[in-house]
Amino acid sequence: MLKIDSIKRGIVIDHIKANCGYRIFKELGLHKSDHRVALIRNVPSKKLGKKDLIKIENKIDLDLNILGIMDPGLTVNIVEGEEIKEKIKLSLPQKVNGIFECKNPRCVTTIENIENVEFILVDKEKKEYKCEYCDTKTSL
Ligand SMILES: [Zn+2]
Repeated sequence: MLKIDSIKRGIVIDHIKANCGYRIFKELGLHKSDHRVALIRNVPSKKLGKKDLIKIENKIDLDLNILGIMDPGLTVNIVEGEEIKEKIKLSLPQKVNGIFECKNPRCVTTIENIENVEFILVDKEKKEYKCEYCDTKTSL
């Protein structure tokens, strides 16, 4: 059994689909992090068969929207005093800001360099979002 109490204060990202951990690890920039971080792969799981797990010794700002898009099945555990203080179950966000850039070269957001463009979920299965200005679809 893997124990969460090996970290005193920090974050444990749980229920990552097996083999998806590394992508999330990199997306969050943890491979460049100064904190003590661990990517644990192929942990036996009742729910998933196998899962990956990320532990971060320290509280960092996580972008839960990016995490939710990458893997909506994730659970983020906030650990304090070696105990889980908060469990956040992620889901696919309906709207996101500042994650995607519009791929359409003629979109006003591209021409005028608009930041934090809002994208709206259009396809849950494909995890596709559309630009609020020109409806061009994009995904991670
Ligand atoms: Zn656009």
